[in-house]
Amino acid sequence: MPSTVHGCEITGFPLRLRYRTIHNSPRGAHYSRATAGDQLPLPTYATSSPRVLGVAVPTPLRKLFDYRPCHPAPREGWQPGLRVRVPFGRREVVGIVVECRDTSDFELSALKPIGACLDNEPLPADWLWLCHFTARYYQHALGDTLHQALPVLLRQGRPLEARTRERWQLTEAGQNADAALLGRARRQAELLELLRQHPRGVVGSVISAQGFNRTQLKGLADKGLAACQEEPLTGPPPSPGGNLLAEPALVLNREQTGVLAELHQRLDGYHASLLQGVTGSGKTEIYLQLIESVIAKGRQALILVPEIGLTPQTLTRFRQRFRVTVVALHSSLTDAERLDAWEAARSGRAPIVIGTRSAVFTPLAKPGVIVVDEEHDNSFKQQEGLRYHARDLAIVRAHHHDIPILLGSATPSLESLIKARSGHYRHLHLTRRASHHAPARLELADLRGRPTQGGLIPPSIDAISAALAGGGQVLIFINRRGFAPTLACHGCGWLAECRHCDARMTLHRQPSCLICHHCERQERLPELCADCGSADLRPLGTGTERSEETLSALFPKTPIYRIDRDSTRRKDALEHALTEVRRGEPCLLVGTQMLAKGHHLPHVTLVVVVNADAGLYASDFRALEHSGQLLVQVAGRAGRAERPGRVLVQTLHPDDPHLRLLAESGYDALASTLLEERRLAGLPPYRHMALLRFESPQEAEATALASAAATSLRSWLDQRGLDVYCLGPAPAPMERRQNRYHVHLMLSAAKRSALHEASAFLVDWLERSSEARRVRWSIDIDPQTLS
Ligand code: ADP
Ligand code: ZN
Ligand code: ZN
Repeated sequence: MPSTVHGCEITGFPLRLRYRTIHNSPRGAHYSRATAGDQLPLPTYATSSPRVLGVAVPTPLRKLFDYRPCHPAPREGWQPGLRVRVPFGRREVVGIVVECRDTSDFELSALKPIGACLDNEPLPADWLWLCHFTARYYQHALGDTLHQALPVLLRQGRPLEARTRERWQLTEAGQNADAALLGRARRQAELLELLRQHPRGVVGSVISAQGFNRTQLKGLADKGLAACQEEPLTGPPPSPGGNLLAEPALVLNREQTGVLAELHQRLDGYHASLLQGVTGSGKTEIYLQLIESVIAKGRQALILVPEIGLTPQTLTRFRQRFRVTVVALHSSLTDAERLDAWEAARSGRAPIVIGTRSAVFTPLAKPGVIVVDEEHDNSFKQQEGLRYHARDLAIVRAHHHDIPILLGSATPSLESLIKARSGHYRHLHLTRRASHHAPARLELADLRGRPTQGGLIPPSIDAISAALAGGGQVLIFINRRGFAPTLACHGCGWLAECRHCDARMTLHRQPSCLICHHCERQERLPELCADCGSADLRPLGTGTERSEETLSALFPKTPIYRIDRDSTRRKDALEHALTEVRRGEPCLLVGTQMLAKGHHLPHVTLVVVVNADAGLYASDFRALEHSGQLLVQVAGRAGRAERPGRVLVQTLHPDDPHLRLLAESGYDALASTLLEERRLAGLPPYRHMALLRFESPQEAEATALASAAATSLRSWLDQRGLDVYCLGPAPAPMERRQNRYHVHLMLSAAKRSALHEASAFLVDWLERSSEARRVRWSIDIDPQTLS
């Protein structure tokens, strides 16, 4: 990190922080507390044989626990970042040494000793730094932050070492040997041939999959014809020099050439760029070529993609292009595979690391560039526990490593857009699709007073027929899974509501039942209305299942693929459906936003958005931004290959000014308007926010705690003269969920440092408050949704 940097220009948050020790402890251990706004980076350690170790253990408690070192000391002495096994209450847990000191606020003799040290060398300092920063920025317990940032097996105390496999290769003698010499050892001769065909060697598992056994391998080895090497499971170490590419890069068009040239100008040192390019404009090709130059210099690239963006397709694109190890960190890895990938990244053996949100915590030996694809995507923000934003942490991380970062999106978040427009980020544009077709325009279709079938009005159905007749595929986007949003009684107007939430139950047909999408409660379908006894119960509204049913009646000969969380529960179901779709035969795709992002669907010529209104009139202040992004992303699915596309957006509000602006002038124009509205309303990105959520089975208890916290914060703010608004307490938009009442307190400040001071005060106050033990509370810095 450059020594001149004392604060992060990106977040305005001081990067240097200090611990404050607090004198009290329920358990007889000592603890220190991190306080935002203070100065000082990493913990200092005067000696490598300290008398006290401050250890972060996996608890929600925001403090360190003091222990006495055990004997013998680790080889290189005690250092922050060593994993240790420690007694904690009645359990033994794996913690991480954070501070090495000679003093404690407690009698040294009263401290328990460390059980065992698990590592020979500490976890990487950069990784520790990022966890420290994350814990302080998001006001989260350091112990839990470190815990979450580690692969499961390391949390459990497994050693950090690569699992290995054998790779067999012919020796020089083997390369020149005549198979006939092997005489009657026919299988050995065949094995010799197999190895001869693969000069780079064949791994043991592949050899046994071909029906060879160890005796045959040993036979060749004993004759000096073949030899084996151990290599990590994630592949051989990168060979210096040589061709990095397995297939040639594409020849860039003029726009792409300009963008790449700009990025190449600043490959050294921190620099943030926002690449705004319409879907299909070749952003990924830019990433690939940028990464190529970075790994050519012997450095590593970290690529973050949204949760549903890490498709086998994306991975294939990287693996086909590069001859180097590409490790992927995603949810379907086993714990062992995840540890392998982590180790490959940490040791530098994997030049390319691709992953979803949590991959931002992957340590890198030689970081060279970070790419965040679809940077606006909501899945980068963790919505529970440690509520971090991977994009924001990626920027902080790039700054810390002093390397470039590239954010890419067709529809950048307002946060990133304002930084690019104000010159904090370099703003790069790709306006044309690689296929030369302009992206499809949104056409608004008036839903008012029109009959619908499966949610579709007659002009939409006609357009679908025409598109199918023209040999195209059609995507019907509907943001409700299930059969219908709810069940209604036509006798009395009763609606199926969840008994535990302020929400309607969704009607499902496969299998038939009512499900609450907020608490997962399931109920049998009632035969009669619970209020009036009428049997006239009917589905209200349209979900994906109903749309699928209607469409299969309307177009009986056309295959239909439904893609939503229910239909893709089975592993590979999504990829299987998409493989069918990519074959290009006319078909109908009915899906939720799972379909809107990331997937290339080159044969889609028509997109129908069944209802655009839900997002337009939601109470959340980001709802318009998100629905604008979603509409543009869905529209981006149409006409990606040689066919131009059409996008029909059904709405009850065809005159809505935001929707019209988006349809007529595009995302940039909508974004400008939304930014101006946010500025006037004092909302992010112009002001910074923190949201405190309180929940309890007793509404009064949640409200009382929130009120007391607010009162004490307000008087503290007055004393300090800090410019922070404290709004609330107010009931959450959905007040009752899972039979618990949710109450919010909102902080807002023009300066990030003020917001953090106020948040730290509140967290501190709540941790000390005795009422807070009965009410669950959490803090969300930079909340993405107010629900
Ligand atoms: P984005 O990431 O912006 O959606 P991609 O990089 O996936 O765009 O490019 C969209 C399609 O265009 C891909 O099929 C890609 O192979 C192709 N493509 C991108 N750049 C070029 C180029 N310079 N020449 C030819 N085809 C290209
Ligand atoms: Zn009724
Ligand atoms: Zn519910």
